[in-house]
Amino acid sequence: MKKALFQTPENDFHVRCALCPDFCLIAPGKRGLCGTRENISGVLYALNYGVISSEALDPVEKKPLNHFMPGTVTYSIGSFGCNFFCRHCQNHEISQTAREYLVAGSDMAVIAGRPPFYTELTPEDVIARALLSGAQSISFTYNEPTVSYEFVRDVAVLAAAEGLPVILVTNGYISENALNALLPYISAFRLDVKAFDPAAYEKITGSGKKIPRKAYETVLHSAVLARSAGCHIEVVTLLIPGVNDDREKLTAGFSEIFRLLGENTPVHLTAYHPAYESSAPPTSPELIFDTMAIAKKAGFRFVYPGNIRLPPGSGLSDTACPSCGNILIRRDGYRTDICGISRETTDDGAEGNPGHQNKNESDCRTGLHDPVCRKCGRSVSAFIRMWKWTMLLPASCLFLPASCLFLHRTLSASLFSVSHRFRVTPFSASHAR
Ligand code: SF4
Repeated sequence: MKKALFQTPENDFHVRCALCPDFCLIAPGKRGLCGTRENISGVLYALNYGVISSEALDPVEKKPLNHFMPGTVTYSIGSFGCNFFCRHCQNHEISQTAREYLVAGSDMAVIAGRPPFYTELTPEDVIARALLSGAQSISFTYNEPTVSYEFVRDVAVLAAAEGLPVILVTNGYISENALNALLPYISAFRLDVKAFDPAAYEKITGSGKKIPRKAYETVLHSAVLARSAGCHIEVVTLLIPGVNDDREKLTAGFSEIFRLLGENTPVHLTAYHPAYESSAPPTSPELIFDTMAIAKKAGFRFVYPGNIRLPPGSGLSDTACPSCGNILIRRDGYRTDICGISRETTDDGAEGNPGHQNKNESDCRTGLHDPVCRKCGRSVSAFIRMWKWTMLLPASCLFLPASCLFLHRTLSASLFSVSHRFRVTPFSASHAR
């Protein structure tokens, strides 16, 4: 438990939380809507500080991030709580637990003490475990990381000093002040855009309590702020039949995101599957493919399907050079083969963009060379951020899942044995990012 940031005292020992745009006014002894912040005698505390529900080594493509340090492994952790209330949440055990038990007035230890268990780590612990694991970045994922703001920030500051890029897998529903204070320490922003109009957004993310929100506008604004701060951004939309699959709204929505973020922003269109309180039928591959065509028509150059089985050799998950069509990165599930990128110039002397794209200290392991397309020699650094050693490890990238599993088991046996109760996420393609 740690004193929360972005709080303002109000009358009668009430506290206003300004971490996210819900701006909860919280009475003494009560918690905000996300269930993670409690007013104790007029001071707001973050109950989930250092409370870790899940930990794993994942391929970065699992987040999914296809253009950020491709072929690398990211040390991934999650906590409890969320400020969205999606009925289809794949990770509802950890995202919604805090809210559900909030009604009963349980404290976080009791909440987290029930399955799926937890452990507590300090920011220094997280850095040590990430470095020991050999991961090339740290991801805050599985539940919404911004409701663990204080812990994320403390880890991110230390990670920057160690040269470990930090990835946020986020819904982007965070106040501008809070986001701006965090962005200097964040390298990649994997953003959910859950729908393309305010009504659909409320339908998907609302609590059923008719909380007035401007979620859609807030999320797009967060994307713009992250882009302005130099973060790498990839956008993910989970397509839910009958909820956010209206063609006109998709067309208008992609045009809007294209206008805000540009053609080089990778877009992932993933299939919904029944989970939690939602039993509607899953998304068909046809809907994914149709929507990919809409996104491409809007101008996006890199559009990927997710959560569906692709026919072998379909190439739909590959990344092609927009200049010459050469396959830069070939993907089969989470296997990544960086087959078409080189540091070298071509025979005809074509060169890429000189320099690198580091935006701050936290990016010091990325973009330290200028990757170019092997065929046409044009720079790919405008749309792919490489890890500096990625080029040296093409063979190991082919065996990434196996190496992850090995590392995961090694860590489980050594580091994690002291905290066997908490939920160590298995390395599995079926587990939600
Ligand atoms: S972070 Fe939680 S407590 Fe704070 S305003 Fe948002 S929902 Fe309310």
